[in-house]
Amino acid sequence: MTRTPGPDTRAAWAELLATARRSVADGLVTGTSGNVSVRVEDPGLGTLVLVTPTGVPYGELGPDDLVAVDPAGRQVLGALRPTSELPLHLAVHRDRPEARAVVHTHAVHATAASLLVDEIPPVHYVTALFGGPVRVAPYALYGTEALAEAVRTALTDRTACLLAHHGTLTLGPDLPTAYDRTTQLDWLCHVWLTAAALPDRTPRVLSPDELAEAARALSGYGQPPGGTAD
Ligand code: 13P
Ligand code: ZN
Repeated sequence: MTRTPGPDTRAAWAELLATARRSVADGLVTGTSGNVSVRVEDPGLGTLVLVTPTGVPYGELGPDDLVAVDPAGRQVLGALRPTSELPLHLAVHRDRPEARAVVHTHAVHATAASLLVDEIPPVHYVTALFGGPVRVAPYALYGTEALAEAVRTALTDRTACLLAHHGTLTLGPDLPTAYDRTTQLDWLCHVWLTAAALPDRTPRVLSPDELAEAARALSGYGQPPGGTAD
């Protein structure tokens, strides 16, 4: 029996590919590093996790290369093998039902910062976007359950973590939010690395009260939903 994805599933795949390509264009990954997933409810196929395939340049992928697994990791759609980080993506989708999108990159500033500390000091108010200071998950080999478990723990009450000697992981209710968190996280790491590089100086940090205040303000940041009044 041929399985056919519904229109919303195909649209989610197009958005996933655009996100993956953007991560290359924005310099957050090189080559086939990094991976992206998004969880959808397909009317005919049930809950699916769409994932980038392993080791294929994103520019070579099109609408017919859709790769989808069920929440247990069994492949439902596609001929290409899913990302090697499938255990990591599935663990986040299982553990964090509010997260529909997961983005993993090897962003350079975040990866560099992961070599220096266990947590990124809250030097800027954007720390509030992540639910608090971003933790660094201890190193484990890419693609392993051990890495998935380390990341699951580091993500407790957070929307992002770093993977020591490896890169970033962010989650969000949708792909644009998860992706934006990745760019903000790499930028935050860049700021901290720049300030921390000065000899004999330690960057000042924000207090928990200041971060909580920023979190409250950021929850209403931007344009009101539904557009502005006439
Ligand atoms: P994949 O090509 O298998 O997605 O692997 C890239 C990567 O970043 C592994 O951590
Ligand atoms: Zn990786």
